[in-house]
Amino acid sequence: MSNGFCSAPHCRGNLPCVQPGRPAGVVAWLAVTGLVAGLPAVAATPIQVTSAVPYLADSGSVAVQCGRLIDGMAAVAQGLATVVIRNGRVDSVQPGAVAPAGMPVVDLGHYTCLPGLIDMHTHLTDSGHETADLSVYYQRTPAEQGAIARESARATLLAGFTGARDVGTYIAWVDRDLRDAINRGDAVGPRMQVAGFYLTIPAGGGDLVIPGHAEADIPPQVRVGVARGPEQFRQKAGQAVAGGADFLKIIASGAVLAFGGVPGEREMLPEEIKAVVDVAHAHGIKVAAHAHGAQSIKDAILAGADTIEHASLIDDEGIRLAQEHGTALSMDVYNGDWIDTVGRAEKWPEEFLRKNVETTEAQRQGFTRAHAAGVDIVYGTDAAVYPHGLNARQFPIMVQRGMTPMEAIQAATSLAARHMGWDDRIGSLQPGRFGDLIAVKGDPLADVTRLQDVAVVIKGGLAFKLPAE
Ligand SMILES: [Zn+2]
Repeated sequence: MSNGFCSAPHCRGNLPCVQPGRPAGVVAWLAVTGLVAGLPAVAATPIQVTSAVPYLADSGSVAVQCGRLIDGMAAVAQGLATVVIRNGRVDSVQPGAVAPAGMPVVDLGHYTCLPGLIDMHTHLTDSGHETADLSVYYQRTPAEQGAIARESARATLLAGFTGARDVGTYIAWVDRDLRDAINRGDAVGPRMQVAGFYLTIPAGGGDLVIPGHAEADIPPQVRVGVARGPEQFRQKAGQAVAGGADFLKIIASGAVLAFGGVPGEREMLPEEIKAVVDVAHAHGIKVAAHAHGAQSIKDAILAGADTIEHASLIDDEGIRLAQEHGTALSMDVYNGDWIDTVGRAEKWPEEFLRKNVETTEAQRQGFTRAHAAGVDIVYGTDAAVYPHGLNARQFPIMVQRGMTPMEAIQAATSLAARHMGWDDRIGSLQPGRFGDLIAVKGDPLADVTRLQDVAVVIKGGLAFKLPAE
């Protein structure tokens, strides 16, 4: 122990020697406040911000006093309340300002606290700045892509998104390695569910074929999930499950940001979708189906897909089926603005820009109709189309197109958690859930754009961002 590091089973590598479930920052705080036996009591100092790696994930204990609290479940906010997080999990939520003995207190009397947000549709592994020339993915090693992914993950977490589904990575398994690094405390980022690779037909929306590049020059690592026919899809789905995917991602229809595909048209056939769904559900995991076109949306719902990604050209029958089957829509209703402005300025391929125009307003109108019909719509942004960390830009569009601010917040908290099968872990501030909490100045129910300026990010009881004061 003399070198300040320890070899006890709870320690890994060169972590500072701390008690299990107690990060170094908390130990420092206990010493400063005199709560360690034998020291005189002095004024409390705030909890430390976790910024360096490695750290002991989900190990923090802290009492967060919130001026206003949105718990992710209730239809209204509550006034002054304290969220007590012990050893990474919510221990209690109590009215008023409470300061349990021996625990750091974060005073957020002028802030609104919420559960950490969840983005159901991100590509953390991919950069938000490279759509103009996707052939960059041909050149990179998984390790190089992994370094980019870590930056995306950090930006996403610091923007208040403590949970994310990564719905596809061009280079297979970079998402899984990022997830595992975050869970080990070797990277800073949201809790992730990952797909491992896209399940897609040859030259489909998840197959990175680019005009001007011979197929022989395309590295196999960007084509791992390419299949045709139910048997091949079954085999690839099994490969994803065996490799550690948390859910499976299929490309049912053409895509906007891929060459040659038509968003309104089928790519995978119903029996191919069904083959993937059967494998996933046999293993107790879900299927996220990329589907812009009305027919592919219906194909995917009828085959048992759990979420429909984009759902841009959904018709009334698709809305009825989603409602009937309890299928959630993950509609990325902001990024069309980004593509049409920044994408145009950066000279993204003309085909991408045209397909974006053909789907953006239609998708927003579909959002309004589906929401009015009572279909579950979760918060999914397609971040990587635009820079990671700007994920909250979608909230105002969702409110403009028919949701109340509370509905939009629940789409990104409890409702998202339910549709990823993690409502026992995240998405609400209730005892037993992970201590994932964010805070913003002011009232996001009065002005949902407040969520674009998150001042506090706590994940697993560890503070990753705190106000300067
Ligand atoms: Zn996407």
